This record gives sequence, C-alpha cells and structure tokens, in this order.
Amino acid sequence: VSTWSHVPAGPPDPILGVTEAFKADKDPRKINLGVGAYRNEHGKPYVLPSVKKAEELINSAKPDKEYLPITGLPEFTKAATKLAYSAESIPYAENTIAVTQSISGTGALRIGGAFLARFYPHAKTIYLPIPSWGNHTPIFRDSGLEVRGYRYFDKKTVGLDFSGLKEDLRNAPEQSIVLLHACAHNPTGVDPTLGQWKEISDLVKEKKLFPFFDMAYQGFASGSTTRDAFAVRHFIKEGHQIALAQSFAKNMGLYGERVGAFSLTTSDPAEKARVDSQLKIVIRPMYSNPPIHGARIAETILNSPELYAQWEDEVKGMADRIISMRDRLYDTLVKDLDTPGEWGHIKSQIGMFSFTGLTPPQTKALAEKAHIYMTADGRISMAGLNNGNIEYFAESVSTAVK
Ligand code: PMP
Repeated sequence: VSTWSHVPAGPPDPILGVTEAFKADKDPRKINLGVGAYRNEHGKPYVLPSVKKAEELINSAKPDKEYLPITGLPEFTKAATKLAYSAESIPYAENTIAVTQSISGTGALRIGGAFLARFYPHAKTIYLPIPSWGNHTPIFRDSGLEVRGYRYFDKKTVGLDFSGLKEDLRNAPEQSIVLLHACAHNPTGVDPTLGQWKEISDLVKEKKLFPFFDMAYQGFASGSTTRDAFAVRHFIKEGHQIALAQSFAKNMGLYGERVGAFSLTTSDPAEKARVDSQLKIVIRPMYSNPPIHGARIAETILNSPELYAQWEDEVKGMADRIISMRDRLYDTLVKDLDTPGEWGHIKSQIGMFSFTGLTPPQTKALAEKAHIYMTADGRISMAGLNNGNIEYFAESVSTAVK
C-alpha cells in the first residue's frame, strides 16, 4: 500500500479554478476577469518599458549569480522602505526600520506572521477584514497566529461598513494585531477615506492594537505612489509602530519575479539590529536567501532618477486605464443599457478589483451563458476589461440581472 494512500484530495484554489474553466472554454467571446494581473488594452500581459530598460542595464554590467545575503539586496530594501515610508519620515531618516527582502507580498506576510508568532509579546491574535484576500487566513494560520475577523464590507451599500469596523476593533482585546490593506482593498475595491483612516489610527492607538499593513498595490490604486501610501505614512506620523508587507508584483508588473519586502519600525538603531538578526533566524531555515534578478530590477528603477520618473508614469498609465474602464463600464451599464440596480460603486471603488454585487447564481449564469469568468463572490478584475470586450461584458451583465 502506498505511503500516501490516506492523503485526501484538497479543494481547488478558488481563484486559479476560474482560470482553469476559462482555458477550457472555446468560445471566442470568452473573458477572464478572475485573474489578479494587469492586462493591457489588447488583453495581453504587460512588461513595463522601465523594467525592460532596467534589465538591459543589468545585463550590460554582466553581473554574477552569487547568493544574496539572507535579508536580500540592501540597495533594494533601502529603496523599498524609502518608497513606502518616504525619505522624510522619522523611521527612515533615523535608520530604525528593520527590513528584509521577501518572496513578493505573500512571502512578506508569511515572514511577518512567523516573526510575530515568535516575538509578539501579547496575545498572538490577528484580526482580518471581512472579507479579505483569500490567502491571508491560511498565511497567518500557518504562521502560528490565531485568526479572527472585523467587519469591513457592507453588502447593502456595496461600501465600507465603517461603524461595524469601529465596533469590532473597539471590542477586540487590547493589543491584538490588526491587518489593514494600505490601499486598494482586495477583494472589495473599497478603501476608507482619509478622514476614516485618521479615525482608525486613533482607535488603534486607544486600544493599543498592533497595525500590520499589507501594501500590495502602492501606486497602482490611484496612480500616485504618494497618495496610495497615505495610510502607512499617517500611522507613522501618529507615532505607531507598524509591520509592513510590500509587493512589487502589481506596481512593477514583476509578478513571477517575486519581489517584495517586509519591515518593522523599531525604537532605535540598536533595537533594529536585534530585530534584523532575528529576521535572519526566521528566514534562514525557510529558504536561506531570496532570488536576485527581480530585486536588481526593482533596485535599478528605484535608485535611478530617470527610470524612477518613467516608472511612475507607467504605473499611472496602468491605474488610469483601469479607472477609464470603470467609467466606461458605469456609463454603458447605466446610461446605455438602463441596467436595474445601483452601480455607482463601479466608479467609486479603487484598484484592480471591483465587487460588482453580482450574486453566485448570476456569476454562474455569466460563465455558462456568456463565457465570462469571475470569482463566485462577484469580484471582477477591471484589468481584464478593454475597449474590445467591455460592451459585450456590460450587455451580458445587464441581461444577467434583468
Ligand atoms: N496582498 C494582497 C491584498 C494581494 O492582493 C496580493 C496579490 N493578489 C498579495 C498580498 C500578494 O501577492 P504577491 O505575493 O504576488 O506579491
């Protein structure tokens, strides 16, 4: 009998399963809105020109392929913290940010979870927004934290449940860890306003909660890396100590290169050095040290004024195309097709994803009858829409809800 005969089949990944179904569909009108990766106006993957230029620069220097240090490429991690916190922030200026390169955002969250499980001096409970990115629960659970939830999304208004959020954080035990999406909340596309962020900061302070920011979309949400960093920088200005997971998958289109960073703000350089030493001890038995190529690309862009300026334009280009698809989808649904229901959220939501409000039976009908694929919760990736397919999509949605 096989050693593994007792292993039960696991359920398929809810997001990757959508792509499987899409691939199997032979209809030429088919649309995949499940995928969380940017697509250009022709529905194709997009390699940023700034990334291509950075790769040319790197290749022309004929670099070796030696191992990176355990915490990665120092020129990259320094530049990543500058991008998130800003050069003027106190932790950056005073060199008190402990930081490591990570296997993109997922790896950053996992290192953070493992570090908190080992060293967080209070109850090791993390509160996630309901709903949150589907991978957050298994990441933190497998890291050894207890996972709980706080109210975030109001199905009735298709917006933020701000009073529920405040009530749940107020009722959480003091010194709990709270996960906050820094911008472009996934899967809902609903972010707190600047005023609401200030209230959340006050509440986190009052309850002595520990804020863990997941920033997977800096620049990708609004088109401005500064505006998208508002929440993180506001918390820092307010004197919070934070944990931060950064990803360069979306904003540099470096998905498969796996470029990210995890950082913690500390009270002084000596404490930073102690935390850095323990981050190494957490990481070494996981994967020894991170991959080099993507970090070189990101470092080259972030540390060259010309490439940085070009990259910021390209990020804005991606964000603007998504925003224009939101406008066009709203106009087509409401003005052209007189679709029943309230669709204002299509325009007010931010980032790659939109919670449409479509129900599981409606999303099923869209897949079976119109060859349009999205997750069962009605989340669509706006990046999957373009001028060639948006009208067909809007007409199909209109039919599905009538
Ligand atoms: N956090 C959130 C909220 C995300 O949406 C994603 C990507 N889907 C990630 C983290 C991590 O992605 P990656 O590991 O590719 O950087």
